[in-house]
Amino acid sequence: MGRIHILSDNVANKIAAGEVVERPASVVKELLENSLDAGATEIRIDTENAGRRLIRIQDDGCGMLRDDAMLAFERHATSKLSDVKDLLAIATLGFRGEALPSIASVSRLVLETRAEDEQTGARVEIAGGKLLKCDEIARPRGTMISVRDLFFNVPARKKFLRSDPTELAHIGSLMTHYSLGHINKRFELYHEGRELLNVSPVNTLRERAFQVFGSELMQDLIEFPMRTFDVRLETDSTPFTLEGLISGPHVQKLNRNSIFLFVNGRLIRDKVLLHALSAAYHNLMPPGCYPFALLFLNCDPAEVDVNVHPSKTEVRFRHGSAVHDSVRDVVREILMESRPVSKIPLAASPIPQRRMAAPVIQRAAALPFSEYSVITEMDEAPPVSEMPEVSEGGEVPLVDVPAAPPNPVRSWPMSGASSLTVPAPSARAGQRIPDTHGALEGLPADWERVDSLGALADLRPLGQLHDSFIVAAGRDGLWIIDQHVAHERILFEQVLRQRTAGNVEIQQLLMPIVLQLTPGQEFEYARIADELNAYGFETEPFGQRTIAIKSSPAGVGPGDIEKIVFEILEIAESEFRSASLDEIRRSVCATIACRAAIKINMRLEPKKIDWLLRALAACEYPMTCPHGRPIALRYSTKDILKSFHRI
Ligand code: ADP
Ligand code: MG
Repeated sequence: MGRIHILSDNVANKIAAGEVVERPASVVKELLENSLDAGATEIRIDTENAGRRLIRIQDDGCGMLRDDAMLAFERHATSKLSDVKDLLAIATLGFRGEALPSIASVSRLVLETRAEDEQTGARVEIAGGKLLKCDEIARPRGTMISVRDLFFNVPARKKFLRSDPTELAHIGSLMTHYSLGHINKRFELYHEGRELLNVSPVNTLRERAFQVFGSELMQDLIEFPMRTFDVRLETDSTPFTLEGLISGPHVQKLNRNSIFLFVNGRLIRDKVLLHALSAAYHNLMPPGCYPFALLFLNCDPAEVDVNVHPSKTEVRFRHGSAVHDSVRDVVREILMESRPVSKIPLAASPIPQRRMAAPVIQRAAALPFSEYSVITEMDEAPPVSEMPEVSEGGEVPLVDVPAAPPNPVRSWPMSGASSLTVPAPSARAGQRIPDTHGALEGLPADWERVDSLGALADLRPLGQLHDSFIVAAGRDGLWIIDQHVAHERILFEQVLRQRTAGNVEIQQLLMPIVLQLTPGQEFEYARIADELNAYGFETEPFGQRTIAIKSSPAGVGPGDIEKIVFEILEIAESEFRSASLDEIRRSVCATIACRAAIKINMRLEPKKIDWLLRALAACEYPMTCPHGRPIALRYSTKDILKSFHRI
């Protein structure tokens, strides 16, 4: 007799459960998706013992016909697909017909359901995959599924579960984010009678986010209405839409736990989209930091393959790199437009807040973990040693700086002035901005709006603090600007623009600079000599492992040229192989800008301060330097008033 035999359904279901049902939150996810697929508008989940003892979901969806209620527990039984060609364009969250049999094989499950046009409903009871009972019952339309004693027959799995708070946090995070993905439905989550989430249907994402997160977090977020963009393919193009909430670059998370991506209503974890998002924040945030983001990407279901992984949390785009670039560009555009500004951190206000009472943050939203992030956290969180170091600008010896000795004002490259379109001071009718920005007129109507750097163009410089920071009065408060990073941003955008247009301004060196390379550097040099040339570093080989540099980008001091070229060779070694052209260019431009920018501890003449502020205001993205440090802090008039107890 042969040694191979077909596994029984029960064994096959348990194997499938290994992939689909990892923990209580995976059960919640599958049941939640089923209820959403059934068109439910109200979904309630009750849990006990962090989902181990009980997960019960109730919905008001279409329900199941009596015969179907039994069939649903057969392997590969689904109402959502019938033909293999349906797989090419899946519009429902489920389609594999695996979840119910898998869950039923590792728990004690009771299903109660009634379809709209049936008189009586059905009750099915299954334990460890064995059908125990099937009765007719009376019940309202919709479905209720109770999953008890999860993994009662798989002790090994039980051991892998984490602590109750962790497992509960996974459930909470999942429910919270599905509620953000389906704003027109009611979601309720309870744990042993305690309400964790309860949100009623609303019309806008902003309202739902407000329900879930409360007003505090909302202040840091940029909400953007739906953008439509065409992903261009060789012959035609296909429309995508993107909408959501993203944080400004001053919100810097150390892992991707706060990034939630939905593709056609499905919460997924996708490397292409995660990377696109990081790329959008490239040069706005330090490396190794991540934003908060809640993004909803919608497209023709045929554009995305969701049948990649049993738990359906991964997708594959048909045109991955085109989608990547479009998403990156849209998010970057939104960041450019909104220009959020960093606030001067305030000590907790001692006076009672008079503002509109914010809803209590939903407990589920405050739970610390998410199913999706834990995995990315393990995969991708950078080790602590890789975290960005505070670089030079961060080490200003504020206390020890002598009170402004008459330093000679070092002249710093103004070459940028020629090629930057710096607008005239914007004071109305071309006059200087008056000494004050006018008397305090009532408070702005909309306290909750995201602050904008649009006001930069109106700043009136008051002076320099420790020859390092520019202090300026603005229409909406007091501003402090780090002169080094501000200039860095100006130069960065200038060099990047010139590089993209292929017209980097160069300066010829009187004496070529000769560099000695290591074998590794020589290899990189051979690969990127043309790219170096495009940035204005005209070089030529000069004997064994030596090169001569004959020109450099305008404005770079001779002392910095050698360092920049070595840094670019280093970027070449570490990044050129994997990074996209866009990222490489940005890294190189950031290096040039950092070296060429004015330093701190440097006295600036008033007209240079003026120039710097106007050039900064003309930047596309004046919030952070290319390495992600903030450029400007604002002490808003509102906060000043609050601190003086005037409001
Ligand atoms: P899939 O969702 O991949 O189809 P499942 O095993 O999750 O597979 O569910 C099997 C079938 O049971 C579904 O196709 C659907 O017809 C039915 N079903 C499951 N849950 C519900 C529900 N809450 N309301 C109505 N029908 C449901
Ligand atoms: Mg399903």
